[in-house]
Amino acid sequence: MIDPAQIASHPAPGRSCGPCTLCCKVFDVPAVESVAGTWCRHAVSGRGCGIHAERPDHCRAFHCLWMTEHWLGPEWKPDRAKMVLTLDPVTRFLNVQVDPGQAGAWRRAPYYAQLKRWAVASLAQKRHVIVFVNKNATVVLPDRDVALGVFEPGDRLVARERMTAAGPVIDVEKVRAAA
Ligand code: SF4
Ligand code: SF4
Repeated sequence: MIDPAQIASHPAPGRSCGPCTLCCKVFDVPAVESVAGTWCRHAVSGRGCGIHAERPDHCRAFHCLWMTEHWLGPEWKPDRAKMVLTLDPVTRFLNVQVDPGQAGAWRRAPYYAQLKRWAVASLAQKRHVIVFVNKNATVVLPDRDVALGVFEPGDRLVARERMTAAGPVIDVEKVRAAA
């Protein structure tokens, strides 16, 4: 679940959601009892939010990265890409929340190659690119993708560098939240 209260975001000039409502499907939105992977009951296909004027503050405050970052091209608009990009407000990891109805969308061109480029650039800052299909997480590393299974609230990603004959390799694992 995204907590928009932790994200200070404003749309970039010229950006608007238009008919996109993908964030109304891929995230939990407790204020309207919407569960990730199913459309919020207020979403109107091709039009937007059916309760726009009265939508919860949670929805009002949220803007995906395509909305805030002018340098993301039109191919990254979520209703076209079938994935919603956000930056984790704490870790600054790039989270890629994929439409579960098109779960393989992130592996298509031009997206997969760009995710790999971001993975390379992020590693230097000890940050990562994580693809989610509902709660299932896959870490995109420069040399491979690592499926970590279901991420529950509080679970963490831990990365370690391991030296090999070919050079350093990054290993990642999921650490469960304390019970
Ligand atoms: S995913 Fe982004 S562009 Fe689409 S409705 Fe949500 S904030 Fe708007
Ligand atoms: S209330 Fe409106 S903006 Fe919020 S998740 Fe539902 S459809 Fe989307």
